[in-house]
Amino acid sequence: MTAAWRSTGVARLAAGKANRGETRMPTGASAEGEGRCEECGSGFVRAHSGMAALCAECAHVLYGYPACGHVMVAGRCATCGWDGSRSAYVRGRLEGR
Ligand SMILES: [Zn+2]
Ligand SMILES: [Zn+2]
Repeated sequence: MTAAWRSTGVARLAAGKANRGETRMPTGASAEGEGRCEECGSGFVRAHSGMAALCAECAHVLYGYPACGHVMVAGRCATCGWDGSRSAYVRGRLEGR
C-alpha cells in the first residue's frame, strides 16, 4: 500500500524534470520517456506501459498489464500518452474474438 503513493510521488517529480529539460530534443524518438506503439502506432509514455514497444492500452489488452484509466486531454491520454488508436487486432480482442 505504501508503495503506491511513493511511486506516484516519484512519477510526479520525474514529470516536472522532463518538462524543464525539453529545450534540446533529439530528432526522431524523444528522450527516454516516449515511444511509438508497434501495435497501434500511438505515441506513449514508456513509464506508464509495462512494455518497451507497446502503449499501455495494447500492453493491457494483449498481455494483461494493468489498465490505464485514460484521461483524454486534447486527443491524448494525459497519463500514458495513448492517442486513442487501436489496431484491428486489438479491436478484435476487445470484441472477444
Ligand atoms: Zn498501442
Ligand atoms: Zn492512458
